[in-house]
Amino acid sequence: MKLKDKIAIVTGGAKGIGFGCAKVFDQHGATVIIADKDEQGGADAAKQLSNGHFRKCDVTDEAMMKSVIDGVAAEFGRLDGIVNNAGWHPPALSIDETSTELFEAQLRLNLTSTFMGCKYAVPHLRKTGGNIVIIASEVAVIGQADACAYAASKCGQLGLMRALAIDLVPQGVRVNAICPSNVDTPLMREWAATLPDPEMGVDMACSTQPAGRMASIEEMGEIAAFLASDEASFVNGNTMIADHGAMLGYGVKRVTGD
Ligand code: NAD
Repeated sequence: MKLKDKIAIVTGGAKGIGFGCAKVFDQHGATVIIADKDEQGGADAAKQLSNGHFRKCDVTDEAMMKSVIDGVAAEFGRLDGIVNNAGWHPPALSIDETSTELFEAQLRLNLTSTFMGCKYAVPHLRKTGGNIVIIASEVAVIGQADACAYAASKCGQLGLMRALAIDLVPQGVRVNAICPSNVDTPLMREWAATLPDPEMGVDMACSTQPAGRMASIEEMGEIAAFLASDEASFVNGNTMIADHGAMLGYGVKRVTGD
């Protein structure tokens, strides 16, 4: 019960990693508000929690982000944390196939949304000494083929996290990020389905980790719960690599050009 009586918002909590965070926060005693654009999925997800709530929120919409965050703080009397998780990985695209519009839309969804989540949560978190968890990606650290917009958006999240982690020290607000490698989520399955051989795509995602499997959403939730709890009181500005050793050792990395 490391989050007993805490009030936390999880963006994109209707499914995938966000739902894993919502579930585990709930198990640790938090009141969780799932903020997601998916009305049916979000409401169903909240019903699976013992103390879950749903607020419709498109994280690309600034007015909606502000009103959901302010509304939660007003209704529940406080805000102790936000998990900025909502995001998307587009299908594999070269730079030639990536339009500037698509690049900017990707930044808006993955990065600007995180900025807005922080910006509008901070006034409330200052009052509670709360904290922020950002779901970035291992791609932010190692890059990824055919994913220039996604990688840029995820790398931006780490810069934002580090800058805020310094700025918010005097107010007692911690900011940390999780960089997962491959997590078995609907997004992962949808991405694999865009490949010529989806089964091989899933197998590759498993084989990236020496253990030969992807992470579960609950494993990501446990890391987020740790970072959000007082157990992590000396953890700030941290990039938590959650990859079960995927970055270790040599791999076959030659780029052939065909
Ligand atoms: P997912 O698609 O399975 O779930 C994403 C959730 O976010 C959904 O509930 C969706 O409705 C919601 N969402 C999407 N756009 C939204 C918007 N504009 N406003 C509000 N909600 C929105 O995705 P996932 O795999 O759980 O990924 C979650 C986060 O984790 C993303 O930021 C992703 O980049 C990151 N990530 C995922 C993996 C992985 O292997 N799955 C690895 C590294 C990082």
